[in-house]
Amino acid sequence: MKRAAATLKSVFGYDAFRPGQAEIIEAVLAGRDVLAVMPTGSGKSLCYQLPAILDGGLTVVVSPLIALMRDQVGQMASLGVEAATLNSHNDPRDTDAAWDRLENGTLRLLFVSPERLAIGGFAERLARAGARRLAIDEAHCVSQWGHDFRPEYRTLAAAKKALGRLPTLALTATADDATRADIAAQLFDKPPLSFLHSFDRPNIDLRFAAKDRPREQIADFIAGRKGQSGIVYTASRAKAESLAASFAKQGHRALPYHAGLDQSVRSENQDAFLTEDGIVMVATVAFGMGINKPDVRYVVHADMPGGIEAYYQEIGRAGRDGLPAETLTLYGAEDMALRRRQIAEKEISPEQRRIEMKRLSSMIDLCESALCRRQALLSYFGEASERCGHCDLCRGEATNYDATIDAQKVLSAVVRTGERFGAAHLADVLTGEATDAIRRHGHDSLKTFGVGKEKSKRAWQTVVRQLYASGALAETSAEHGGFRITESGVAILKGSEKVSLRLVVETARRQSRRERGAAMAELDAAGNALFEHLRALRLEIARKEGIAAYMVFADRTLIDMARLRPRNADDMKLVHGVGEAKLARYGSQFLKAVAAFPGA
Ligand code: ADP
Ligand code: ZN
Repeated sequence: MKRAAATLKSVFGYDAFRPGQAEIIEAVLAGRDVLAVMPTGSGKSLCYQLPAILDGGLTVVVSPLIALMRDQVGQMASLGVEAATLNSHNDPRDTDAAWDRLENGTLRLLFVSPERLAIGGFAERLARAGARRLAIDEAHCVSQWGHDFRPEYRTLAAAKKALGRLPTLALTATADDATRADIAAQLFDKPPLSFLHSFDRPNIDLRFAAKDRPREQIADFIAGRKGQSGIVYTASRAKAESLAASFAKQGHRALPYHAGLDQSVRSENQDAFLTEDGIVMVATVAFGMGINKPDVRYVVHADMPGGIEAYYQEIGRAGRDGLPAETLTLYGAEDMALRRRQIAEKEISPEQRRIEMKRLSSMIDLCESALCRRQALLSYFGEASERCGHCDLCRGEATNYDATIDAQKVLSAVVRTGERFGAAHLADVLTGEATDAIRRHGHDSLKTFGVGKEKSKRAWQTVVRQLYASGALAETSAEHGGFRITESGVAILKGSEKVSLRLVVETARRQSRRERGAAMAELDAAGNALFEHLRALRLEIARKEGIAAYMVFADRTLIDMARLRPRNADDMKLVHGVGEAKLARYGSQFLKAVAAFPGA
């Protein structure tokens, strides 16, 4: 493992392994079959990259997306490592070149899609060319229980046989027991050595908020983070478009991304996001699988995700570089109802519907949890933990109160209006707002009309939503967004059960808090200026070479450089993320930039 640590420094420029990596790499180097479960952004790729570099031979890496493969090949090239991809979008000349390198034994990593590997004779040819190891990325795609089942992954077992049962490393960020057992069963003849690494990503700040004035909530959030790279996820294409347009009006560089856009626009926007700095990508879930950008500083969910796995994977795209990153998840009763309807309408087996419903209710529980977000999240992944002390709940951004009377008011309004109206209408009844709909239904003559004047309409909607989440209300099946009372709701109405709800403190607009994450706090004013200077140089180089800015150097590297102010190549080697290849390629340019900077 000494050699592994030395290679980690000389090739990648990293000083230490991240938690979990060393054990996995050791097992891989020993030729074991391994199943590694580590959270997104924890550094899974290194677990096959490093062994491939260390002991030569060829490692075949199966990956579900061409974008992912290209990204990795690019990264490997920037580190001076021989890597290639064979996929259906290849230029035939590239394909020939890849086979040449394969057959003369210089290639260390070959990225292929499962479909490609299944083509008759292909795996055999790789075996003849001396393939030594197989790595299967996003291995949960093989499982129906996973949230991202891909039938083509089912062909991998046969491909493995054709490759001659090479030692195999399966990697995933999905940890639930059923999926893990399924991966082991589908991909391995004998149980593999399993590594389950903690799902805690302490650098990611967790914050949830009930939808109140969602557009403003999001606008406020991103206004305080102008110039940082971020992703805003929305549930619909139309919303992605309209939010992107309104952010652009507010002076952000914002781009939409969803499956309804032209392929060329999509890749253009994705490239811009990857290459440049400080773009807000407003996207549906179609965006992300291929995104290895390490310096995404925030992820916002404009709508509640459908399950915790998806949520966790999406927020996991923030802060891969280990620097502080922030998240904000908005949720509302409409989201919860929408997700339920979506699952009900899916053409899936009853068993799978049950699983998806369970997934959804875990997500709702997380939104409505009262103690600590991180604790709730980790306990979902089967990890016990203490309160984290720095999520929105631990920070005390919301407190609980005895809401029995409020609940009774809402429940009574639900019953008296015939159990078929949504949160907005119920709130109108309670605040005594005689809208057209209220008059048309004669709801202005109800006993409950206007019994809740002391609260705002929004506050009542919050109460309705929480009652729904806690199970006192259920949705009326036939109607859109209407609520009916449940057994536990009846108990509350009768006064035999008490309710505690979260009091949402309506905080004043948060002012632009941090410019570029807390990491920048390490730098003084001069350091900051130097950092910006180096960033500009990085962008210039990236543009010239047509690669992503982070492939030149990561933020973390530039921050370190601005702090250490290296004077020569030896100093430069001490900077985080500077390995031999990058030193040779960019070292002198950045040394010059540091030396020429005033005060250096
Ligand atoms: P995952 O596949 O687990 O989602 P990646 O393999 O893409 O994550 O790694 C995320 C980022 O962390 C990458 O930029 C990678 O270079 C970086 N990284 C990996 N291992 C280390 C390490 N030991 N020290 C510092 N950075 C690392
Ligand atoms: Zn907490």
